Amino acid sequence: MLSSRVEKTNSWLLSRVSARVLTAAAGGAVGWWFGQRMGHPTMLALLCAAAAVLALSVLDTLKGYQILDWLRTPEANAPEMPGLWGEIAHRVQRVIRQRDQLIAEERRRLDQFLSGIQASPNGVILLDETEHITWISTVAADHFGLDPVRDLHQRVTNLVRQPTFVQYLQAGDYREPVKCLMPWGGQGYLSLQVRRYGEGLKLILSQDITERERSDTMRRDFVANVSHEIRTPLTVLNGFIETMGSLPLTDVERARVIMLMAQQAERMQTLVADLLTLAQIEGSPRPSSDRWIKVDGLMQRLENDGLGLSRGRHPMSFSMDDQGQHAEIAGVESEWLSAMGNLVSNAVRYTPDGGAIQVRWLTQPEGGGEFSVQDSGIGIDPEHIPRLTERFYRVDGSRSRETGGTGLGLSIVKHVVQRHGGELRIASEAGKGSTFTLTVPTARVRVS
Ligand code: ADP
Repeated sequence: MLSSRVEKTNSWLLSRVSARVLTAAAGGAVGWWFGQRMGHPTMLALLCAAAAVLALSVLDTLKGYQILDWLRTPEANAPEMPGLWGEIAHRVQRVIRQRDQLIAEERRRLDQFLSGIQASPNGVILLDETEHITWISTVAADHFGLDPVRDLHQRVTNLVRQPTFVQYLQAGDYREPVKCLMPWGGQGYLSLQVRRYGEGLKLILSQDITERERSDTMRRDFVANVSHEIRTPLTVLNGFIETMGSLPLTDVERARVIMLMAQQAERMQTLVADLLTLAQIEGSPRPSSDRWIKVDGLMQRLENDGLGLSRGRHPMSFSMDDQGQHAEIAGVESEWLSAMGNLVSNAVRYTPDGGAIQVRWLTQPEGGGEFSVQDSGIGIDPEHIPRLTERFYRVDGSRSRETGGTGLGLSIVKHVVQRHGGELRIASEAGKGSTFTLTVPTARVRVS
């Protein structure tokens, strides 16, 4: 390899030397020819030989400059020229093209790698040894409120001043991630972890854990609420058991205590039943849309249950449009019955005696259907309406408990209707009454 390169160099050298010798000889010969006529053949031969070599050198220098000129913008094609200079230009161009190809290939690989990181749901920020930003993924830009272009080369702690983050970065103990509020003041939480790599370089990984935090809080609240709801009747029951064990009671007193104990036990039973219903609804797959339930049959059962609950205290009406007689809805019968039954039961419980309750089914001409329960009861102030479907949310806790409520009814309703692709609408005015409407989507309603 080396010897072939040496050989080539020698042959170029030889060709340049022989080109100059030939030019000098040709120049000398022409000078000699003219010199003989003019009487100074030797001098003219030498002069012409020198002039020919000089001309060749000037030509060479010009070609060299041409190549230098081209090398300033090597993207352009190399100048076409014969001989050694042409060969040099061609070879240099080949080397430049190869290097450009290599750079382009490396750049493509880097882009691919970075777009792989961009595809991750987690954010990444790369820092140099002095904690200046060298790269920001779009997710991290979103998490930290940074600009992936403008904020490059800035010191990260100048831009992200969240105290938890700054302390964590400066403390240097990165074994565990740290949880902090969204640094740009958004409503949410980030989990951050720093990793060291290379020589003094750092990588910050960010993960949006807002949802996880929210469900953790919900779970904690839920457990606390369930414990509270169960503890109250249990405490009352315990009290009665102690009373019965320690005090001599008359038959009348005993009967009353047993009746009160039964009420508490029933309260716990209802709560457990509602909890089980919720758990079962949440844990089961979306209801199939090929099991059809007659609306007529549902309305009949709701009427029986509603009248039983009200025991004549409210004027109640149950009506369907003409198509409703033949309408069917798709889904899980027990779930629909539970959702609709909860609305009827609420209307009875939150409507003072004498207040009217209307339960209706309406088959929509354009498809789908609506089940609504309208009461003329106590109504609800607007600020409570968005929270009614939260578990255990009650406007008036004592009224809910006195009437056997668990605070879970509307959560069950919302879950059921969402699982069936419909929605729950609430319209209410305090002191005037409420209307709760369940919409059933077109795909789940048919009229036979
Ligand atoms: P609860 O078992 O307490 O009735 P729900 O989830 O069914 O629980 O309802 C949540 C709250 O919404 C109730 O505590 C009550 O304050 C309010 N609410 C529900 N239905 C009605 C209604 N028809 N009229 C007035 N308030 C209602």
